[in-house]
Formats: sequence, structure tokens, C-alpha cells
Amino acid sequence: MRLENKVCLITGAGSGMGRVASQLFAREGARVVAVDVKGNEAENTVELIVKSGGKAVAVQADVSSDIGAKKMVDAAVKTYGKLDVLYNNAGIFPEKDHSVIDTDSEVWDKVYQVNLKGVYLGCKYGIPEMIKAGRGSVINIASFVALVGCTVPQDAYTASKGGVISITKSLAVQFGPKGVRSNAICPGPIETPLLTEWLLKEPTEKAKRLNRIPMGRFGKPEDIVYLALYLASDESSWTNGAVLVVDGGITSNYF
Ligand code: NAP
Repeated sequence: MRLENKVCLITGAGSGMGRVASQLFAREGARVVAVDVKGNEAENTVELIVKSGGKAVAVQADVSSDIGAKKMVDAAVKTYGKLDVLYNNAGIFPEKDHSVIDTDSEVWDKVYQVNLKGVYLGCKYGIPEMIKAGRGSVINIASFVALVGCTVPQDAYTASKGGVISITKSLAVQFGPKGVRSNAICPGPIETPLLTEWLLKEPTEKAKRLNRIPMGRFGKPEDIVYLALYLASDESSWTNGAVLVVDGGITSNYF
């Protein structure tokens, strides 16, 4: 198994890609710490894992709070004795996040708090545990929208994900020498609740986006999570500071 004996903390594990990642990682032998702001959904993920014979523990925590981030890392160490993989996946994409000229400050701040401060806090508490062990893998989820402009803006989200890419490179350089690798994944549009619950509901909006994807379909959580599996495993032991785009070819598409 590719993650035998690894302790993997996954945020946003109660839905979408975080849930699929938790299940896959557990199938590959990981002990999973499934974290979500919705504790009942984290528990549902753990139930699915345990039913299939895997090992996992649920933690209710808000990644944008100091207390929440410390609580989730402490839970990993207390339950399983160490932390090998910190998978900063939790993120939000509110409908009210639009252009800089019509987005309220409160919306901007909230998006930054979860999407970027959440990564900072996860690393603040998680990386010291990995340094102690002399090894570890940080997986940060950014987005393809941080790499290209979009005429249908979501400026707070886009800027927060740009920040995730930048901090990933800084982490890679700082902590690579201590055995801790940091990489970012930029997913294209993936069919999860984050997207389907509003952006893809309207058929014309959906068709507009589909038209831009050379592969002719939206992504599935597995399209991203298999890359995360590689980054979590020792197969990626020389992959550090990479920004890996998995988007069906969208960012390569001029016309
Ligand atoms: P999702 O289905 O909405 O799952 C995200 C989970 O994180 C939800 O359970 C969410 O709870 C939880 N969460 C939100 N805020 C949190 C907080 N402060 N602390 C802890 N948990 C929190 O989203 P997804 O599509 O799987 O997205 C996962 C990641 O991929 C995100 O970072 C997203 O920005 C990124 N991404 C997604 C796409 C896409 O097309 N889906 C594309 C590019 C990048 P709530 O439901 O209560 O918010």
C-alpha cells in the first residue's frame, strides 16, 4: 500500500475532494485525521472509512482559527503519535465573491481567512511536528483560477489561491532542508458541492464553462486526489515547491 504507516491530516474532509481523498488515503493504508468545520460530516467520512476496514478519526475544527488548527494537529499527534501529511484542502467559494468593485469587505476577509489563513495556521502547527520527525509532506490546494484571468470574476477567491501558490514555494525552500516537502495542486473545475451547488446549476453557465475544457468534461474528485496520493507518498520524495495543474487542459487553451 502506498501510504502504509502514514498519518494524514485532511481538512475539508466532510465533503467533495476531501472526503474522496480521506477514503482513498485510508484504502492505501493511511491513518486519516478527517477535519471539517461540520463535525457531523467529518464523522460521516470516518464512518465510511471504518466500514471499509480503514482507520480514521474525525475532528471538528475551523481551519481559520488558531484554536481549531492547533486542535486538529494535537488530535493527530495524540491519536496516532505523529503527523506525516498535512493536506490543506478546506476552502470556500461564496456566491457573493465577485469583482473587486462589488465585493464586500466582509466577504473578502472571510474568503482569505479560510483559504489562505487556514493554510498558514495548518502549517504553523503541523510543520513543527514534521520537522521533529525529519520528514513530511504538505499538500496545499490552490486553483487554476490563480493562473489565468476570468471574465466572470471571483476576485477574493482568485487572490487567496494565488497566495496559496506563493506560500507553498516559500515553505518548500524553508523546510525542504529539514525533510518537509511542500507542493500545491491547482485543480480545474471539479464536480463537487462547492461548484455544483451554485455555479453549475444554471445550464447556460454550465455550458459556457464546459466549452472551455479541451477534455470535454468537468473534473471528478478522483482526478485531483490521485495526484495528492502521489504527493503524500514517498514516490514524490524529490517533488518540492511544485505547482501542479490538473485542469483538463483549460489553462493551455487559447481558442
Ligand atoms: P467542498 O465540497 O465545498 O468541500 C470543502 C469542505 O471544507 C466542506 O465540507 C466545507 O464545509 C469545509 N470547510 C469550509 N470552511 C472550513 C473551515 N473554515 N474549516 C474547516 N473546514 C471547512 O469543496 P471541494 O470542491 O471539495 O474543494 C476542496 C478544495 O479544492 C477547496 O480548497 C477549493 O477551493 C479547491 N478547489 C475546488 C475546485 C472545484 O471546482 N470544486 C476547483 C479548484 C480548487 P462547508 O460546506 O460548511 O463550507
